[in-house]
Amino acid sequence: MTASRITGGCQCGAVRFACEALGKASICHCRMCQKALGGYFGPFGVARGLVWTRGEPKRFQSSNTVRRGFCADCGTPLTYEYGDTVDVTLGSLDDPAAFPPLLQIGLEGRLPFFAGLADLPVRTAAQNDQYAAAYAAIVSYQHPDHDTEAWPPAGRTP
Ligand SMILES: [Zn+2]
Ligand SMILES: [Zn+2]
Repeated sequence: MTASRITGGCQCGAVRFACEALGKASICHCRMCQKALGGYFGPFGVARGLVWTRGEPKRFQSSNTVRRGFCADCGTPLTYEYGDTVDVTLGSLDDPAAFPPLLQIGLEGRLPFFAGLADLPVRTAAQNDQYAAAYAAIVSYQHPDHDTEAWPPAGRTP
């Protein structure tokens, strides 16, 4: 029996996974990870005992040794697969705060402004108030951060 079950999935809910443990949580700055994630780095952890509990990712062979999995419906990047090992994207976990990265790799691609990101200015409370009404009107179609019996809920469009 597993002591705990780590779950995650894509934005639209078509692909969900569970694993028993996550190891080697890291962020990779290499250009391939930037491109694959559409972000500034790739956050990955080695998934042990991984099972797909709903759907399965589509794969893109990004090099002679690596396939990258993503949801074919919504595009969420989900895996980095090599040999028998599958890493999952840490941002696709239902509780990403529970698995902080412990290592940076691919430093040759690290963007020059990376170290300053946390120091960027933030919106003031007054600016937040300006947007509050617009945000309050937003209805999310994103899958929630937990497993569901069925998704999307019956009767919802899209
Ligand atoms: Zn999806
Ligand atoms: Zn990389």
